[in-house]
Amino acid sequence: MLEIKNLHAKIEDGAEILKGINLEIKPGEVHAIMGPNGAGKSTLSSVIAGKEDYEITDGEIIFEGENINEDAPEDRAHKGIFLSFQYPVEIPGVSVTNFIKAALNETRKANGLEEMPAKEMLGMIREKSEQLGIKKDFLSRSLNEGFSGGEKKRNEIFQMMMLNPKLAILDETDSGLDIDALRIVADGVNHFKNEGNAVLLITHYQRLLNYIQPDFVHVLADGKIIKTGDKSLALELEAKGYDWLLN
Ligand code: ADP
Ligand code: MG
Ligand code: MG
Repeated sequence: MLEIKNLHAKIEDGAEILKGINLEIKPGEVHAIMGPNGAGKSTLSSVIAGKEDYEITDGEIIFEGENINEDAPEDRAHKGIFLSFQYPVEIPGVSVTNFIKAALNETRKANGLEEMPAKEMLGMIREKSEQLGIKKDFLSRSLNEGFSGGEKKRNEIFQMMMLNPKLAILDETDSGLDIDALRIVADGVNHFKNEGNAVLLITHYQRLLNYIQPDFVHVLADGKIIKTGDKSLALELEAKGYDWLLN
Protein backbone atom coordinates (compact mmCIF):
# COMPACT_ATOMS: atom_id res chain seq x y z
CA MET A 1 0.00 0.00 0.00
CA LEU A 2 2.69 2.46 1.04
CA GLU A 3 6.30 2.20 0.04
CA ILE A 4 8.80 4.79 1.16
CA LYS A 5 12.22 4.56 -0.46
CA ASN A 6 15.28 6.47 0.68
CA LEU A 7 13.17 9.48 1.67
CA HIS A 8 15.07 12.66 2.42
CA ALA A 9 13.23 15.85 3.34
CA LYS A 10 14.01 19.25 4.74
CA ILE A 11 12.19 22.31 5.96
CA GLU A 12 12.00 25.00 3.30
CA ASP A 13 15.35 26.82 3.50
CA GLY A 14 16.38 24.69 6.45
CA ALA A 15 18.26 21.67 7.59
CA GLU A 16 17.62 18.13 6.46
CA ILE A 17 15.27 16.36 8.88
CA LEU A 18 14.53 13.03 7.19
CA LYS A 19 17.77 11.35 6.16
CA GLY A 20 16.90 8.24 4.18
CA ILE A 21 13.71 6.59 5.41
CA ASN A 22 12.71 3.17 4.07
CA LEU A 23 9.32 1.81 5.09
CA GLU A 24 6.82 -0.59 3.57
CA ILE A 25 3.26 -0.90 4.82
CA LYS A 26 0.92 -3.60 3.52
CA PRO A 27 -2.87 -3.75 3.80
CA GLY A 28 -3.97 -5.18 7.15
CA GLU A 29 -0.90 -3.99 9.01
CA VAL A 30 -0.45 -1.68 11.99
CA HIS A 31 2.96 -0.01 12.18
CA ALA A 32 4.15 2.00 15.15
CA ILE A 33 6.89 4.56 14.90
CA MET A 34 8.56 5.48 18.16
CA GLY A 35 11.58 7.57 18.92
CA PRO A 36 13.04 10.36 20.96
CA ASN A 37 11.76 13.90 20.80
CA GLY A 38 12.95 15.76 17.73
CA ALA A 39 13.70 12.54 15.80
CA GLY A 40 11.52 13.56 12.87
CA LYS A 41 8.37 11.53 13.59
CA SER A 42 5.93 14.38 13.01
CA THR A 43 7.91 15.50 9.99
CA LEU A 44 7.58 12.03 8.48
CA SER A 45 3.79 12.07 8.96
CA SER A 46 3.58 15.59 7.48
CA VAL A 47 5.70 14.64 4.48
CA ILE A 48 3.56 11.56 3.77
CA ALA A 49 0.43 13.74 3.98
CA GLY A 50 2.04 16.36 1.75
CA LYS A 51 2.22 19.36 4.05
CA GLU A 52 3.79 22.21 2.18
CA ASP A 53 6.31 23.34 4.84
CA TYR A 54 8.59 20.47 3.83
CA GLU A 55 10.50 19.67 0.69
CA ILE A 56 11.43 16.19 -0.49
CA THR A 57 15.07 16.30 -1.59
CA ASP A 58 15.52 12.62 -2.48
CA GLY A 59 13.63 9.36 -2.57
CA GLU A 60 10.06 8.33 -3.26
CA ILE A 61 6.71 7.97 -1.59
CA ILE A 62 4.68 5.37 -3.45
CA PHE A 63 1.03 4.91 -2.54
CA GLU A 64 -0.83 2.05 -4.20
CA GLY A 65 1.79 1.82 -6.91
CA GLU A 66 1.86 5.54 -7.74
CA ASN A 67 4.55 8.06 -6.88
CA ILE A 68 2.80 10.79 -4.87
CA ASN A 69 5.85 13.00 -4.16
CA GLU A 70 4.28 15.90 -6.04
CA ASP A 71 0.64 15.41 -5.03
CA ALA A 72 -1.15 18.17 -3.13
CA PRO A 73 -2.35 17.29 0.40
CA GLU A 74 -6.00 17.19 -0.66
CA ASP A 75 -5.22 14.82 -3.53
CA ARG A 76 -3.48 12.47 -1.11
CA ALA A 77 -6.50 12.71 1.20
CA HIS A 78 -8.79 11.86 -1.70
CA LYS A 79 -6.63 8.85 -2.54
CA GLY A 80 -7.19 7.58 0.98
CA ILE A 81 -4.42 8.94 3.18
CA PHE A 82 -5.69 10.38 6.45
CA LEU A 83 -3.56 12.32 8.89
CA SER A 84 -4.86 13.14 12.34
CA PHE A 85 -5.19 16.86 13.02
CA GLN A 86 -5.64 17.46 9.33
CA TYR A 87 -8.71 19.57 10.10
CA PRO A 88 -7.96 21.26 13.41
CA VAL A 89 -9.62 24.54 12.46
CA GLU A 90 -12.46 26.05 14.43
CA ILE A 91 -15.41 26.74 12.21
CA PRO A 92 -18.12 28.67 14.04
CA GLY A 93 -21.55 27.84 12.70
CA VAL A 94 -20.45 24.60 11.04
CA SER A 95 -21.34 21.59 13.11
CA VAL A 96 -19.30 18.43 13.57
CA THR A 97 -21.93 16.61 11.49
CA ASN A 98 -22.12 19.11 8.65
CA PHE A 99 -18.37 19.29 8.39
CA ILE A 100 -17.91 15.55 8.09
CA LYS A 101 -20.79 15.27 5.60
CA ALA A 102 -19.12 17.88 3.40
CA ALA A 103 -15.68 16.29 3.73
CA LEU A 104 -17.00 12.83 2.94
CA ASN A 105 -18.98 13.98 -0.08
CA GLU A 106 -16.03 15.96 -1.38
CA THR A 107 -13.88 12.84 -1.19
CA ARG A 108 -16.56 10.83 -2.97
CA LYS A 109 -16.83 13.48 -5.68
CA ALA A 110 -13.05 13.49 -6.19
CA ASN A 111 -13.32 9.73 -6.73
CA GLY A 112 -16.16 10.04 -9.23
CA LEU A 113 -18.89 8.97 -6.82
CA GLU A 114 -22.30 10.53 -6.20
CA GLU A 115 -23.09 12.20 -2.89
CA MET A 116 -23.96 9.69 -0.22
CA PRO A 117 -27.74 9.49 0.18
CA ALA A 118 -28.84 11.39 3.31
CA LYS A 119 -30.34 8.32 4.94
CA GLU A 120 -27.19 6.27 4.46
CA MET A 121 -25.09 9.15 5.77
CA LEU A 122 -27.24 9.47 8.89
CA GLY A 123 -27.03 5.73 9.50
CA MET A 124 -23.26 5.84 9.22
CA ILE A 125 -22.99 8.86 11.52
CA ARG A 126 -25.14 7.07 14.06
CA GLU A 127 -23.14 3.84 13.86
CA LYS A 128 -19.70 5.47 14.15
CA SER A 129 -20.68 7.96 16.84
CA GLU A 130 -22.19 5.16 18.94
CA GLN A 131 -19.01 3.12 18.61
CA LEU A 132 -17.06 6.08 19.99
CA GLY A 133 -19.56 6.99 22.70
CA ILE A 134 -20.28 10.34 21.04
CA LYS A 135 -23.50 11.98 22.17
CA LYS A 136 -26.05 13.70 19.90
CA ASP A 137 -25.41 17.19 21.29
CA PHE A 138 -21.71 16.86 20.48
CA LEU A 139 -22.54 16.24 16.82
CA SER A 140 -24.41 19.54 16.56
CA ARG A 141 -21.69 21.65 18.20
CA SER A 142 -19.55 24.02 16.13
CA LEU A 143 -16.43 22.31 14.87
CA ASN A 144 -13.56 22.45 17.36
CA GLU A 145 -15.00 25.53 19.08
CA GLY A 146 -14.18 25.31 22.77
CA PHE A 147 -13.44 21.59 22.46
CA SER A 148 -11.54 20.03 25.32
CA GLY A 149 -8.50 17.86 24.54
CA GLY A 150 -10.61 14.72 24.81
CA GLU A 151 -13.35 16.16 22.58
CA LYS A 152 -10.82 17.13 19.92
CA LYS A 153 -9.42 13.63 20.02
CA ARG A 154 -12.88 12.11 19.77
CA ASN A 155 -13.75 14.32 16.79
CA GLU A 156 -10.50 13.43 15.08
CA ILE A 157 -11.10 9.71 15.46
CA PHE A 158 -14.73 10.19 14.37
CA GLN A 159 -13.47 11.91 11.20
CA MET A 160 -11.12 8.99 10.56
CA MET A 161 -13.90 6.44 10.96
CA MET A 162 -16.31 8.38 8.74
CA LEU A 163 -13.79 9.05 5.96
CA ASN A 164 -12.64 5.43 6.17
CA PRO A 165 -9.19 6.00 4.63
CA LYS A 166 -6.95 3.25 3.28
CA LEU A 167 -4.04 4.51 5.37
CA ALA A 168 -4.63 6.30 8.67
CA ILE A 169 -1.65 8.14 10.13
CA LEU A 170 -2.13 9.08 13.75
CA ASP A 171 0.52 11.34 15.21
CA GLU A 172 -0.01 11.09 18.92
CA THR A 173 2.11 14.01 20.05
CA ASP A 174 4.02 13.65 23.26
CA SER A 175 1.82 15.87 25.36
CA GLY A 176 -1.75 15.71 26.46
CA LEU A 177 -2.65 12.08 25.90
CA ASP A 178 -4.33 11.25 29.17
CA ILE A 179 -5.85 7.86 29.82
CA ASP A 180 -9.25 8.89 28.38
CA ALA A 181 -7.65 10.12 25.16
CA LEU A 182 -5.63 6.90 24.93
CA ARG A 183 -8.84 4.88 25.17
CA ILE A 184 -10.60 7.01 22.55
CA VAL A 185 -7.75 6.54 20.10
CA ALA A 186 -7.40 2.84 20.86
CA ASP A 187 -11.14 2.10 20.58
CA GLY A 188 -11.34 4.04 17.34
CA VAL A 189 -8.35 2.31 15.78
CA ASN A 190 -9.54 -1.11 16.88
CA HIS A 191 -13.00 -0.50 15.35
CA PHE A 192 -11.50 0.98 12.20
CA LYS A 193 -8.87 -1.67 11.51
CA ASN A 194 -9.59 -4.35 8.94
CA GLU A 195 -7.72 -6.52 6.44
CA GLY A 196 -7.95 -3.91 3.70
CA ASN A 197 -6.61 -0.84 5.50
CA ALA A 198 -3.49 0.10 7.40
CA VAL A 199 -2.52 2.27 10.35
CA LEU A 200 0.70 4.18 10.97
CA LEU A 201 0.76 5.09 14.62
CA ILE A 202 3.34 7.60 15.75
CA THR A 203 3.89 7.70 19.44
CA HIS A 204 6.54 8.74 21.90
CA TYR A 205 5.32 6.42 24.64
CA GLN A 206 4.75 2.71 24.74
CA ARG A 207 1.47 3.02 26.70
CA LEU A 208 -0.76 3.39 23.66
CA LEU A 209 0.59 0.09 22.35
CA ASN A 210 -0.91 -1.67 25.37
CA TYR A 211 -4.27 -0.98 23.75
CA ILE A 212 -3.40 -1.28 20.05
CA GLN A 213 -1.36 -4.25 18.91
CA PRO A 214 1.20 -3.21 16.29
CA ASP A 215 2.56 -5.72 13.79
CA PHE A 216 5.80 -3.77 13.48
CA VAL A 217 7.55 -1.25 15.70
CA HIS A 218 10.14 1.06 14.19
CA VAL A 219 12.51 3.34 16.03
CA LEU A 220 13.16 6.66 14.35
CA ALA A 221 16.16 8.65 15.51
CA ASP A 222 17.86 11.59 13.83
CA GLY A 223 15.83 11.18 10.67
CA LYS A 224 16.46 7.47 10.12
CA ILE A 225 14.80 4.22 11.10
CA ILE A 226 17.50 2.63 13.22
CA LYS A 227 15.65 -0.47 14.36
CA THR A 228 12.55 -2.49 13.46
CA GLY A 229 10.95 -5.20 15.51
CA ASP A 230 7.61 -6.54 16.70
CA LYS A 231 5.63 -5.32 19.69
CA SER A 232 8.22 -6.72 22.10
CA LEU A 233 10.53 -3.94 20.90
CA ALA A 234 8.08 -1.38 22.32
CA LEU A 235 8.24 -3.11 25.70
CA GLU A 236 12.00 -3.17 25.55
CA LEU A 237 12.04 0.57 24.83
CA GLU A 238 9.69 1.17 27.74
CA ALA A 239 12.09 -0.65 30.03
CA LYS A 240 15.39 0.60 28.64
CA GLY A 241 14.64 3.95 26.99
CA TYR A 242 16.25 4.93 23.69
CA ASP A 243 19.85 5.58 24.67
CA TRP A 244 21.11 2.00 24.17
CA LEU A 245 20.08 2.26 20.49
CA LEU A 246 21.60 5.63 19.80
CA ASN A 247 25.32 4.81 20.02
P1 ADP B 1 9.35 14.51 16.57
O1 ADP B 1 7.95 14.52 16.08
O2 ADP B 1 10.03 13.19 16.41
O3 ADP B 1 9.46 15.03 17.96
P2 ADP B 1 9.73 16.60 14.60
O4 ADP B 1 9.47 15.97 13.27
O5 ADP B 1 8.65 17.42 15.19
O6 ADP B 1 10.21 15.49 15.64
O7 ADP B 1 11.04 17.50 14.48
C1 ADP B 1 12.28 17.01 14.00
C2 ADP B 1 13.28 18.15 13.94
O8 ADP B 1 12.95 19.06 12.91
C3 ADP B 1 13.35 18.97 15.21
O9 ADP B 1 14.68 19.37 15.41
C4 ADP B 1 12.46 20.16 14.91
O10 ADP B 1 12.84 21.27 15.64
C5 ADP B 1 12.70 20.35 13.41
N1 ADP B 1 11.51 20.87 12.73
C6 ADP B 1 10.41 20.17 12.38
N2 ADP B 1 9.52 20.93 11.73
C7 ADP B 1 10.07 22.17 11.67
C8 ADP B 1 9.64 23.42 11.13
N3 ADP B 1 8.46 23.56 10.49
N4 ADP B 1 10.46 24.47 11.26
C9 ADP B 1 11.65 24.36 11.90
N5 ADP B 1 12.12 23.21 12.42
C10 ADP B 1 11.35 22.13 12.32
MG1 MG C 1 8.13 16.27 19.24
MG1 MG D 1 6.14 14.88 16.96
